Amino acid sequence: MARKPIIAGNWKMNMTPAEAKELIAALIPLVQDAAADVVICPPYLAIPTAAELVKGTNIALGAQNIHWAEKGAFTGEISAKMLKEVGVSYAIIGHSERRQYFGETDETVNMRAKAAIAAGITPIICVGESLEERETGKTEAIVSAQTEKALAGIEAKDVKILVIAYEPIWAIGTGKTATKEQANETIACIRNTVKKLYGEETAEAVRIQYGGSMNPKNAAELMAMPEIDGGLIGGASLKAEDFSKVAKY
Ligand code: PEP
Repeated sequence: MARKPIIAGNWKMNMTPAEAKELIAALIPLVQDAAADVVICPPYLAIPTAAELVKGTNIALGAQNIHWAEKGAFTGEISAKMLKEVGVSYAIIGHSERRQYFGETDETVNMRAKAAIAAGITPIICVGESLEERETGKTEAIVSAQTEKALAGIEAKDVKILVIAYEPIWAIGTGKTATKEQANETIACIRNTVKKLYGEETAEAVRIQYGGSMNPKNAAELMAMPEIDGGLIGGASLKAEDFSKVAKY
């Protein structure tokens, strides 16, 4: 069965609630006829505003992270239950900026992914290699290990419906995109890891996005590759016109 493409916008720490309102109002008519699943991931503070605005549209709402505990003494964190209650259905987990600046590890990525699944939120699990790792031929080993650790203890039925984002760190926010061949090949390697762990049916069902300087100019050629099921978009998700062009590649 063909996998439905999924285009998600990671707004990072951009957009106040008022700015989010403007961006979403502009985006709604532009993506209403998109064939792909369309997701926006605003900062937490803008999520309630966003939730009201996207009601009844084809735009789904995602968070940029999730804590693994349901509640408790975790100052500054947000739980899956809280996000679910305000209408969040996806959560980016283990983005390289979280791994690089906030001490996220493969173990905490796994815990966060499990918490999302338990709350009925679809995780978008990010994996990807650094420039040095690519240049020294370690890409496949790195992304396979990250995938295996992120999925540890998660059942096949849940793996089938989650999303993995292959994001080479050297391509994020740099304007440098992986070539379509590089992206396709590494995503094939991630799918093969899922196949080894869960079998063919699960591997064929799981959606794997590419992320890293994807924009209106390169989206079509990336999306034409057989292994690439969508995109996780940073910079280009902050302009309605650009994001809609990617969503309708
Ligand atoms: C990202 O942060 O997930 C990302 C892909 O960013 P950009 O599109 O700006 O490279």
